[in-house]
Amino acid sequence: MTNVVDPNSDEARGKSPVPEHVQDAIRTLISWSGDDPEREGLIDTPKRVARAWLEYCQGYQEDPAVHLSRVFNEVGGYDEVVLLKDIPFQSHCEHHMAPITGKAAIAYLPKDKVVGISKLARVLNGYARRLQIQERLTAEVAQCIWDNLQPHGVAVVIEAQHGCMTGRGVRTPGVGMITSRLHGCFLEDHRSRKEVLSLMGY
Ligand SMILES: [Zn+2]
Repeated sequence: MTNVVDPNSDEARGKSPVPEHVQDAIRTLISWSGDDPEREGLIDTPKRVARAWLEYCQGYQEDPAVHLSRVFNEVGGYDEVVLLKDIPFQSHCEHHMAPITGKAAIAYLPKDKVVGISKLARVLNGYARRLQIQERLTAEVAQCIWDNLQPHGVAVVIEAQHGCMTGRGVRTPGVGMITSRLHGCFLEDHRSRKEVLSLMGY
């Protein structure tokens, strides 16, 4: 007997299989929303949705701190703020599982450790790709940098729109929410705080 692999199967297309009970859950949600999960356009939707959610929540597979494990100790006397601005991100709110889209500004004042600048964006994404609230996302990113780089100060400001506000409920498109978390000199020293926030554009 030959082992024939269906060319349209997940296996043949190199995609990970989605367990039947996961697909059933999404079919239930489609029916609950008022549509027919068996109609043609929706037939493969449960699999797509399931795989998309694994991607949206990829952050659960990683410890964002790993991105800060490779540090450079040669700061060459640099004692000014390092700032990464307008970092786009997408997350999902834990109350409605609706998208949160926005941008972050992340700054730190190094003591004796710096990291490759892209690593700050990786830390953000590691926490954003989970079910979140914006306040906790902001705090987690700041705490991770504070703990791992032990800098003089950390500042994180996140500005985002929430799908659960713009697409449902009070339906207020265009309304953004701003959250911030400061540590060290940016929290304690009024002038440092003013400087970093103005560099960020706030
Ligand atoms: Zn929400």
